[in-house]
Amino acid sequence: MTSVVDRIPGDRPVFSVEFMPPRDDADEQRLWNAIRSLEGLDPAFVSVTYGAGGSSRDRTIRTTGRVVKETTLVSMAHLTAVDHSVAELRNVIGWYASLGIRNVLALRGDPPGDVMGEWVKHPEGLEYAEDLVRLVRELGNFCVGVSAFPYGHPRSADLETDTEFLVRKLRAGADFAIAQLFFEADDFLRMRDRVAARGCDALLLPGVMPLTTPRILAKTVELSGAAVPPALAARLDPLAEDPAAFRAEGMDVTAELCERLLAEGVPGLHFYTFNRAKATKEMVDRLGLLPRRSPTAVG
Ligand code: FAD
Repeated sequence: MTSVVDRIPGDRPVFSVEFMPPRDDADEQRLWNAIRSLEGLDPAFVSVTYGAGGSSRDRTIRTTGRVVKETTLVSMAHLTAVDHSVAELRNVIGWYASLGIRNVLALRGDPPGDVMGEWVKHPEGLEYAEDLVRLVRELGNFCVGVSAFPYGHPRSADLETDTEFLVRKLRAGADFAIAQLFFEADDFLRMRDRVAARGCDALLLPGVMPLTTPRILAKTVELSGAAVPPALAARLDPLAEDPAAFRAEGMDVTAELCERLLAEGVPGLHFYTFNRAKATKEMVDRLGLLPRRSPTAVG
């Protein structure tokens, strides 16, 4: 079973993709179409997010296990500490292991319903992602990732303490971190510098979502916690009523962001797909990230 770290060689950039567990049968079909159409492009790994409730969580386990069983892809399952006792977390990690899932993204998660609501840990659960990193490590030979926030996590007092806690969870046993969305390459690069300044050389992957629609732009604002920079707004806002022009400009903006990150030596790009493959396929083709061994036509 291959680990995520094994799939990021460092001598050439790679890409990876993130999916969400399907909500229903139609969604499942859409997800599998996306997985199948990306499989031939040889992403370094595919990850499946972990939801807030029981059935969605079961679907994460099922989907990630199915990726291991039915595809050639390396899969990574997310896991959060929300509403789980340590015994339940051990049980989920046990399921992951039994399904052949070797890679886990260890997260604290958000309070259900309101991401900025009060965080209350399960009475027999864990407080921070750092604790979950330790638990996953303790339970088997997993490759473990964590999240990182270029603008700082919304609950962090400032960037310095945020970086301190990021480095702590990496040192607790995480092999790499994946960054939340951000708008400008420097936002990510400054975070990388802050981490390096603390003597930590962990693998950091930027998270990218092609800006194909005004809705995705709004989602990027929501997830990143940052406002659209004025120069970017000046390029995209006038096109809000013209879907084709917005998409073309949004793809240009995304390609420029990725090109700068690659020029700065990032080892890979992690694409948030929302279970759709088209924009990611176009972007990896445009960036020249398709596999060397079998140049696959994008279509
Ligand atoms: P932590 O690292 O525990 O940090 C939480 C807060 O506590 C931060 O403010 C941090 O600075 C602070 N902190 C950390 N350690 C300490 C400490 N030792 N002492 C004091 N303060 C500390 N959510 C989901 O529900 N499901 C998913 O699948 C999912 N996938 C994600 C994937 C990525 C790449 C990213 C970036 C986010 C994802 N999230 C997901 C969202 C994430 O769960 C939330 O952002 C959550 O609020 C923070 O989780 P964390 O693991 O970063 O928490």
